Amino acid sequence: MRRPLELYIHIPFCERKCLYCDFLSMPAGAGLRSRYAEALAGEIRRKAKSCGGYEVSAVFVGGGTPSCLEAEQMAKILEAVREGFFIREDAEVTIECNPGTLTEEKLACYQRLGANRLSIGLQSAKDGELRRLGRIHTFRQFLGNYRLARELGFGNINVDLMFALPGQGIADWEETLGKVLELKPEHISAYSLIVEEGTPFYEAYGEDDRKRARGEKPEFLPEEETECGMYALAREMLEKEGYRRYEISNYAKPGFECRHNIGYWRRASYLGLGLGSASLMENIRFSNTSDLGAYLGGGYADLEKVLESPECAGAVRLDKKEQMEEFMFLGLRMADGVLAEAFRAEFGVGLEEVYGAAVRKFARQKLLAQAEGRVFLTEKGVAVSNYVFAGFLLEA
Ligand code: SF4
Repeated sequence: MRRPLELYIHIPFCERKCLYCDFLSMPAGAGLRSRYAEALAGEIRRKAKSCGGYEVSAVFVGGGTPSCLEAEQMAKILEAVREGFFIREDAEVTIECNPGTLTEEKLACYQRLGANRLSIGLQSAKDGELRRLGRIHTFRQFLGNYRLARELGFGNINVDLMFALPGQGIADWEETLGKVLELKPEHISAYSLIVEEGTPFYEAYGEDDRKRARGEKPEFLPEEETECGMYALAREMLEKEGYRRYEISNYAKPGFECRHNIGYWRRASYLGLGLGSASLMENIRFSNTSDLGAYLGGGYADLEKVLESPECAGAVRLDKKEQMEEFMFLGLRMADGVLAEAFRAEFGVGLEEVYGAAVRKFARQKLLAQAEGRVFLTEKGVAVSNYVFAGFLLEA
């Protein structure tokens, strides 16, 4: 029987860098995009040869901005996937898109290639906020792209949103949520802004962010209390419209939870393809180079070697302790939490035996709850999730 596998395919190009972004993405001319698509298709064909024993249940083309590639470049990549891998008939195939880079030709091409899910980066429905974030598009452009995708028959669309933006108030966030809810997407991701080092936002708001962390009043960023209020508002408005929060920052209509994301949080095997992409297969972690020149020259991870002899190929085989820790951190992100039975099935030992003390401590603090054999974060626990996760690190 074939083992399940997910594919993540990275497209590292964007029209322009957003001011808050620290992802592996960059602007690139037509020639570079074309060479990259060629190199990526080559990597896919080569790695697929080592994956005969797997069946692919989800493909996620992310970035960067995958929709900035020409239709024929995307076709080259997804055709290589279909030729090389065994793809389940019901596989979820997502393409990440940004407004301002989508056309009817591209959307029709994605459909021909079997894409059945779009993830559109909107971030805000307010043009002033979009400009402040350095986004290349307006809300109107997003609306045009969204409606076109619906007209062409895409029935599974995610909209990415961000809150706790500089200068944003609760009413602004409410307006964004309201406008997006009118469109009835099947899935909504809502993450709070993180001011990352090395970005223009860090220069502008880094000090403000530190102030906030010290409990002082920030100048531009919303106060922590406002940020918590925004999170609670999103949950309230979305749940009222029939979305379920299935992960800390992800909401879906029943049956539209993102399979690719769930696979990641449940530690399914996934293979990353493309510049800088990370993989976890058979509890072996490895990554491709982030050096574009090296990548274009074929300098990506050698999957055959990695699976045969991880240590020699620069990969890391996770030991039991690391696997258990990941199982807990990632599993607790999900609203359903961690199933004690699943822990035992995976590790041959009871959750209580390994983590009993930690679970009891956080339960006493009302940060974790237990029901029907599951352990999960409470509402209070979600707000301090990183503190809870740190409590699941095991002694060396
Ligand atoms: S579109 Fe996304 S990946 Fe590209 S620069 Fe903006 S935030 Fe980063």
